[in-house]
Amino acid sequence: MAFNIPRGTQDILPGESERWQYVENIARETCHAYHYQEIRTPIFEHTELFSRGVGESTDIVQKEMYTFADKKGRSLTLRPEGTASAVRSFVENKLFANPIQPTKLYYIGPMFRYERPQTGRYRQFYQFGIEAIGSSDPAIDAEVIALAMSVYRKAGLKNIKLVINSLGDKTSRAAHREALIRHFEPRIDEFCGDCQKRLQQNPLRILDCKKDRDHELLKSAPSILEYLNEESKAYFSKVQQYLTDIGISFEVDPNLVRGLDYYNHTAFEIMSDAEGFGAITTLAGGGRYDGLTEEIGGPKAPGIGFAMSIERLLAALDAENVKLAIDQGIDCYIVTLGEKAKDFSVSLLYKLREEGLSAEIDYECKKMKGQFKAADRLNAKYIAILGDDELSQNKINVKDAETGEQQEVKLDEFIRYMKAHTER
Ligand code: ATP
Ligand code: MG
Repeated sequence: MAFNIPRGTQDILPGESERWQYVENIARETCHAYHYQEIRTPIFEHTELFSRGVGESTDIVQKEMYTFADKKGRSLTLRPEGTASAVRSFVENKLFANPIQPTKLYYIGPMFRYERPQTGRYRQFYQFGIEAIGSSDPAIDAEVIALAMSVYRKAGLKNIKLVINSLGDKTSRAAHREALIRHFEPRIDEFCGDCQKRLQQNPLRILDCKKDRDHELLKSAPSILEYLNEESKAYFSKVQQYLTDIGISFEVDPNLVRGLDYYNHTAFEIMSDAEGFGAITTLAGGGRYDGLTEEIGGPKAPGIGFAMSIERLLAALDAENVKLAIDQGIDCYIVTLGEKAKDFSVSLLYKLREEGLSAEIDYECKKMKGQFKAADRLNAKYIAILGDDELSQNKINVKDAETGEQQEVKLDEFIRYMKAHTER
């Protein structure tokens, strides 16, 4: 019986996984520079955390969660996103008591959503995200956005676009909400069933509907920007000023929404502008959530964060034809001739590796010719050739694969020689 991989998931094979590590390293290094520290939370949580923390009216909670009962009948859910868990952990571990705030966290790991798989959309996908919890300084909003942009830039993307919006504070949102209901209500029967439900639950989400995105009422919908009170306006212009000071260009799109009730002020998305990137162009999304800690039973602690998937980042790199600087080769391949030489080279190989060189040898009893071929396939920078004769004379031949130059080296100097020649 043969098994297939579940729909919407993928194997990241050697050759490809190096690209993942490469961009994940960029994410980690950037977090280090911006002083965000890694948090690792469980892959599953109590279902209730997501229904509260992500929001009952969202697509995620309505239809995308992998929910199951464990053997004791508790309802658990594979995490569909990272914010709820990070905030739960912030509250549960009393990270708010730390004298320095905000608490700045990042995560990288798999998320699970039961969606219709397509390019850029999987059922298991990897998200890199950050959360800054415990400050409502607009400088933090700019920092969070800058970090995301920095990761894309360092990875080599050129055609990316930042879109921002403000959802205002509670008062601004309440006024806007009423205006939205007045706007959509008379013709709500022209909208999809989800939107009809959203009208009273969370009318803002109608602006984000994928089915009704071309309806004329969306274009004429009242803009949140007209409903921002003075405080919210001031907050939003501070964020824009900081972005401008940093040198990050952006567009303001009043229809950009992140649909949860406790989302407020800054919302943003980063899109790929690359030609041929496909239907899904959003690479990352984020925003401010000032009521979330309280929603899940903690003290007031305003937060902001974003998440991006590694899949879409890599797809954008492909679309822009960016070649990552990945060194796939090994430092040294030992070619042996004769049994004694083979036996001796086992410990030689060990020493090379312990010195930090990537080294390989043949395990298939290949003839010399086959071993050279393998060295070539593995992109070895050096090929060390050891026969029984050389061994008895206490020497080894080292060939520079690039220049073809060959050098005779004393066996007891071999490790030092290799180290000196492969220093990075
Ligand atoms: P979309 O509108 O594409 O469904 P979303 O609003 O559901 O996105 P978020 O919950 O904001 O997405 O997640 C943040 C980021 O995670 C997205 O911008 C995208 O990069 C990525 N992402 C979301 N869902 C998937 C998925 N199913 N497969 C791959 N990446 C995803
Ligand atoms: Mg989605």
